[in-house]
Amino acid sequence: MGKNLSENLESANLAIFARLEGRRCAVIGGGSVAERKTRELVRAGARVSVLSPEATAGLKDLARDGNIDWLAESFTDQPLAGFWLIVAATDDRALNARVFEAAEAAQTFCNVVDDPERCSFIMPAVVRREPVTIAISSDGHAPVIARCVKGLIETLVPQQLGALASLAGRWRTRVKTAIADIDERRRFWESVLEGPIPDQVYSGRAAVAEAALEQALERWQTSNGARAGEAYIVGAGPGSPDLLTLRGRQLLSQAEVVLYDRLVPAEILEFARRDAELISVGKQAGRPSIAQAQINRLLVEHVKRGKRVCRLKGGDPMIFGRGGEELEALTEAGLPFQVVPGVSAAIACAAYAGIPLTLRGVTQTVLLTTGHTESSADLDLGLVPSGQTLALYMGVARYGKIAETLLAAGNSPELPVAIVERGTLAEQRVITTTLADLTEVGPALEIQSPALLLVGETTGLAERYGWFAPERHVTYKGTQSRRHALSA
Ligand code: SAH
Repeated sequence: MGKNLSENLESANLAIFARLEGRRCAVIGGGSVAERKTRELVRAGARVSVLSPEATAGLKDLARDGNIDWLAESFTDQPLAGFWLIVAATDDRALNARVFEAAEAAQTFCNVVDDPERCSFIMPAVVRREPVTIAISSDGHAPVIARCVKGLIETLVPQQLGALASLAGRWRTRVKTAIADIDERRRFWESVLEGPIPDQVYSGRAAVAEAALEQALERWQTSNGARAGEAYIVGAGPGSPDLLTLRGRQLLSQAEVVLYDRLVPAEILEFARRDAELISVGKQAGRPSIAQAQINRLLVEHVKRGKRVCRLKGGDPMIFGRGGEELEALTEAGLPFQVVPGVSAAIACAAYAGIPLTLRGVTQTVLLTTGHTESSADLDLGLVPSGQTLALYMGVARYGKIAETLLAAGNSPELPVAIVERGTLAEQRVITTTLADLTEVGPALEIQSPALLLVGETTGLAERYGWFAPERHVTYKGTQSRRHALSA
């Protein structure tokens, strides 16, 4: 029985590249779409039979030159066993549907043009730099988007990438024999790709590139390839993958081991190489979890073993990220490292909430601090001087206590406050309120971590400049401010 693909929309298609050389395929239909699909199959080396009473001049040419078999007849529900792939491209929807049923019965992959429900395979948009092929698909939902992405990629990928891949292919066996260790071999190839050889190929100097590769391999062998591991302490930014830095992304994609925090989203981990070892070392307030000392140990051990280890942290690694402790552990062990900054929550949340952290004539100081301290008995929060924006990391459960401490220090109950929950993510929520109402807003609106608290004159501007997910902006007026207004 044919499987209805629409019942299956959540499961994405498997991306594969099919080797069709010498294999029989059928195209039902003889119009221009059929011709286009036929040409793609012929290009892949398939033995194509076209079934259609009529055929375009192009198809007739292909048949005359012996590239395809053209049977000038209609599809009459004959069995379709023996074909590896089938394309139904007639302008008769019912006929196409019958082809699909016959293909299903024969357990053969079938593509019905312009009918995503009746496709057991699709032909993606393709960027060709042979032998490199980049295929883009929207699983049949939005071919226009796939084509648009294809356009983007076409502009990004050098035309001569294929030549570079061919060069690497020719040297593959030789390099494999010369460098037995797989990790080391990968490093060799990465060093080649980061050096001048790609540009030599792209600018048509193949012989120069070939000689350079020969030299690089010799040098690698005489230097014994013994390269030490290295730690990359990388800030992943506030959550949105677009806000990861280019350098962070480069180093992440080179690492063999990735130690990542709880706040780092899966989309960013996608940038890691497929065979990288991904280790979650997330800490969560109030839950038993991996201790910092253990993280330091893991980091040091892997680097010592010669691995490139990416320590991926939310926001910036040096702002409430305990990056400093990891640098100390690495330094203590005499191991090399690089640090890549990330967009810290205060910067990101302010930007995505439309809050200027400094504003000429209004605020000129920003204080980054935390509502959650090691000795959490006392909060070190005093009078917020006029002209200062206070950014408080963590401590969502203590917003009430934070408000009381700030009020007790003499701050005005009307001082504007903004809370940015899950900043920069699709679910971002911004709440503007006053210091008086901050005492109760946490439980009232069920604010969840991660959230950032901003206090100061400019925070109210989120109501005016909030540009991201504005439908989830809340202005909270609670019992405290109302009471205050009555007594004023
Ligand atoms: N190193 C990180 C901070 C780690 S502490 C940085 O530079 O941003 C974790 C705290 O950061 C959270 O409790 C929260 O206060 C804040 N935070 C991190 N990501 C956030 C986000 N997307 N939205 C709001 N706050 C965030």
